[in-house]
Amino acid sequence: MLPLSFYNSLSRSLEPFAGPRDGKTVRIYTCGPTVYNYQHIGNMRAFLFADTLGRVLRWRGFATKHIINITDVGHLTSDADAGDDKMEQAAAAQQRSIWEIAAHYTDAFKRDVRRLNIVEPAEWTVATDHIPEMIEFARTIEKSCYRLESGLYFDTSTVPHYGVLARARADEGESRIDPVSGKRHPQDFAIWRTSAPDDRRQMEWDSPWGRGAPGWHLECSVMSLQHLGHPFDIHTGGIDHREIHHPNEIAQNQAHCGCADTGAGLWMHNNFLVDRRGKMSKSSGEFLMLQRLVDRGVHPLAYRLMCLQAHYRSELEFSWAGLLAALTRLKRLAQAIEGLRARAGDAAKGDGAAYAERVADALGEDLNTAKALTVLDELLADKRLSPDVRLAMATDVDAALGLQLTTLTRADLRVRPAEARIGEDAITARLAERRAARAAKQFGRSDAIRAELAEAGVEVMDGDPLGWDWKLDLA
Ligand code: AMP
Ligand code: ZN
Repeated sequence: MLPLSFYNSLSRSLEPFAGPRDGKTVRIYTCGPTVYNYQHIGNMRAFLFADTLGRVLRWRGFATKHIINITDVGHLTSDADAGDDKMEQAAAAQQRSIWEIAAHYTDAFKRDVRRLNIVEPAEWTVATDHIPEMIEFARTIEKSCYRLESGLYFDTSTVPHYGVLARARADEGESRIDPVSGKRHPQDFAIWRTSAPDDRRQMEWDSPWGRGAPGWHLECSVMSLQHLGHPFDIHTGGIDHREIHHPNEIAQNQAHCGCADTGAGLWMHNNFLVDRRGKMSKSSGEFLMLQRLVDRGVHPLAYRLMCLQAHYRSELEFSWAGLLAALTRLKRLAQAIEGLRARAGDAAKGDGAAYAERVADALGEDLNTAKALTVLDELLADKRLSPDVRLAMATDVDAALGLQLTTLTRADLRVRPAEARIGEDAITARLAERRAARAAKQFGRSDAIRAELAEAGVEVMDGDPLGWDWKLDLA
C-alpha cells in the first residue's frame, strides 16, 4: 500500500502524511458555517470534503479528533474588514434576534449534515461561547496590534512572511480595498471591533478595547487552540479562506506563540462548486440548497456522489444533468449491492485484497475519490469473486465513501418531488392495471394508462436496464 499523501496549500505540493503529531490522534479543524442564512450546496461541498478526509484517515487506521465551528458573530459582509456583521444584518432584515437567527440556521445546517451522511465532529464549537477566551488570546497578541477608534487592529508586518499561504503580494486581492482609515497596511485586520458611541449592536461584550465584538479571524485561532492545541495536524476550509481568513489566523497564531509556526502542519482547501454564473455564493441572491434538490426528487446522497466523482481540488460545475447522472450511478450501485445480497451464501470464491489495495492507494493519494469509485465499479462487477467477497469489500470501501451503499434501498432513492401530482401507491396500482392490460393484449388500454401517467408527470420505463419501472419527470 502506498503511503498517504496530501496537498499542502502552504507548500503548494503533495506531502507525505507521516501520522499524527502527538503519535495518537489526528487533530483536524474545519472552518464552519456562518449561520446568518442557509448553507448552499457549494458550502456543503466544503463539509463533504472535510468529512471524506476524516473518513479516509480513520479508514487507514488513524484515530481522529475533528472540530467544526459555528460562526455566529464577527463575519462581515466582506472577508476583509468591510461592511456590516452578517448576523446583525440578517437579524435586522428578518426582525428577529440574532440568537433566533443563529439557532434556526444552525439547525438547518445540521439537518443537511445528517442527510449527506457527514459524520458529526467531536464537537461543534460556537464562536459566542468563547468570547472570554478570545479576549484573553487578544491580550497575548496586543504587542502585534495597534488601536484605532474603530477597534484593535493586527499589524501584519510584525509576523514573518505574512500571507505566504495566499502567495499574494501585499497590494493584491480584497485586502487592497482599505475601508478602515488609519490602518498601517491594507492587509491589517480587526481583532476587536469597538462599537461607535451611537451604535447599538445586538451582540456586544465589554473588553479592554471598549464595548464591541471580536473580529472574525480571532475565533478560529482561539477555538482550535482551546479544543485541539497548537500545533495541530490539519486545518481545512474552502479555497476562498486561503486568501484572507487563513493567512490572518496564521498571523494571530504566530504572534501568540512568538514563533514562525502556523498553528497546523497541513492546510487543505477544497475548490468551489460553480454554476454557469460562476462561484455559488450566498450573497448572489439565488442559490441552491440541499432541500431544493430533494424537492425535485433527488436523494441527497446523489449530491454526495456527485462531489466524490470530482477531485476536491478541482472546480466542480453544477448542472441538473450532472446531478441526475450521479443519481443514476447511485441507483446502479444500490442495485448491484442488492443483487449481491440476494446471492449471499454462494460458495466463497476469490480474494478482494488487490481491490482493497487499489482503493487504499487511490484514496491515500490526496483523496482521489473518483478513482476509488471506478475501482468499486470494477469490484462489484468482477465475477471471479463470489458475492460475499464483493459485498464485504464494498461495505469496507463505503466506510470511506459514506454513500450508505449497504443500507440504501432503491425505494429510498425514489424521492418524491414536492410538486409530484400523483402518489406512489396510485402509480403502483395504475402500473399493475397496465401490466394486466398488456397481458390481455389490450394495448390501447395500456397506452391510455401510460399517457395518463405521463400527464401526471410519471414516465413509464419499459425494459429499463436498472429495473425501474417508472420515474418522475423532473423537467
Ligand atoms: P460560510 O458559511 O460562508 O462561512 O462558508 C462555509 C464554507 O463553505 C467555507 O469553508 C467556504 O470556504 C466554503 N464555500 C463557500 N462557497 C463555496 C462554493 N461555492 N464551493 C465550495 N465551497 C464553498
Ligand atoms: Zn475559520
